[in-house]
Amino acid sequence: MQYRAWFSAVDGSPGRWPLNEVIYRAPTGALLEVQHDHEALRSRSASAWMKLFDDRYLRTQWPYGSGVWGKKEWVQPHIADENIVSLLEGGTNLFWAERYGKQLGVPDLWIKQCGTSHTGSFKDLGMTVLVSSVKQMIADGKPIRAVACASTGDTSAALAAYGAAAGIPVIVLLPRAKVSAAQLVQPIANGAIVASLDTDFDGCMRVVQRLTEDPTIYLANSMNSLRVEGQKTISIEMVQQFDWEVPDWVLVPGGNLGNVSAIAKGFEQMIELGLVTRRPRLVCCQAKQANPLYLAYQRATAAGRPLALEDFEPVTAGKTLASAIQIGNPVSLPKAIAALSRYDGVVEQADEAELANAAARADRTGMFNCPHTGVALACLEKLVGAGTIRAHERVIVVSTAHGLKFTEFKTRYHQGQLELPAPYANAPVELGHEPQQVVEALHRVLDQRPAP
Ligand SMILES: *Cc1c(COP(=O)(O)O)cnc(C)c1O
Repeated sequence: MQYRAWFSAVDGSPGRWPLNEVIYRAPTGALLEVQHDHEALRSRSASAWMKLFDDRYLRTQWPYGSGVWGKKEWVQPHIADENIVSLLEGGTNLFWAERYGKQLGVPDLWIKQCGTSHTGSFKDLGMTVLVSSVKQMIADGKPIRAVACASTGDTSAALAAYGAAAGIPVIVLLPRAKVSAAQLVQPIANGAIVASLDTDFDGCMRVVQRLTEDPTIYLANSMNSLRVEGQKTISIEMVQQFDWEVPDWVLVPGGNLGNVSAIAKGFEQMIELGLVTRRPRLVCCQAKQANPLYLAYQRATAAGRPLALEDFEPVTAGKTLASAIQIGNPVSLPKAIAALSRYDGVVEQADEAELANAAARADRTGMFNCPHTGVALACLEKLVGAGTIRAHERVIVVSTAHGLKFTEFKTRYHQGQLELPAPYANAPVELGHEPQQVVEALHRVLDQRPAP
């Protein structure tokens, strides 16, 4: 069976473009999205798709063991296997947050650990699709010299790694002093051209759009809808991990807002093709320091109507520990608003103390959270407190990066250096070397410490 997909405009304006064309927007200026020939995909039944995906999942037949490429027909059917650049994406743990969920009063709580991946963030899911597509374009004769992105850290790490694996030159534009040390060293180590710009992310985004007006430099930001095709597999994989059952809620931290719509797109495709019949509710979780969508949601709610584009105004993002979502003018805003309206969405926010303490409290139950996951966990706590999310409901929090990429954040929290109340700070016990004294001291600490 020949499966087909193409670009079309999200505003419904006419036109179809092939997936190997260098194009990011429709003539109207609207963002593009990848559309699949669902008629052709329906030639296989829903149960046959589920079986195929289950048979491939984390198996050895390259590249289908990848959580993204195991769903290749739904992602990028036109790419020849030899052009796929896969470093094993997806297949990440869906962590049952048993103790943490009980503490919050939502015992059916699960954390999708998307940061347990090659470059340590969920951006790998989309980047494997983008870089594989570029490799296919080059094979098809497109004169692409390099791939470029603006980044808050994780996009550049993923692009640099996949570009290096494919042998494609990479340019990354980073806002100076606004990414973690680990995030900065990743593209450096992978040999990318790393430009540190004296601006914020939104400023880097303006530069990369100019840079990629030259069609030989391909744009890798999430406004490039090829990445959405990889990110949407988060939804498919989460449902697959529950033996094809849909959760009640999915919470995800939001910055440039590509992922909230990607998650909706994954569910939409499963509904279209009959794998599932219902939708979860979506929550976009923003840092209070970079909360333009939250403010728009508040305006709409105060006026008693659904969130719409007119409610939105860009902001200048303030400094936040959740640096990967420090974005004031999100590029994928229209897609996110459409997704939230279809998924009975909620937008919540968390301030610095809330995100840091939620991350630290959850770490005490066996996680190791990045600050963005902290934002989502803090928003979860608020929505449970407000009665929006109820005790019996099944909730999945999408954890977007590995905590080890943000060790400054975690170290400073536990050293009490974040200038906020840190009730879960856990300083090391400084002791000498005499065995008996150390043993006695440890017994005293153990006796005094409350049960975990
Ligand atoms: C990119 C990123 C996000 C936000 O995703 P958007 O699609 O930009 O909203 C959240 N957390 C981390 C760690 C990220 O790297």
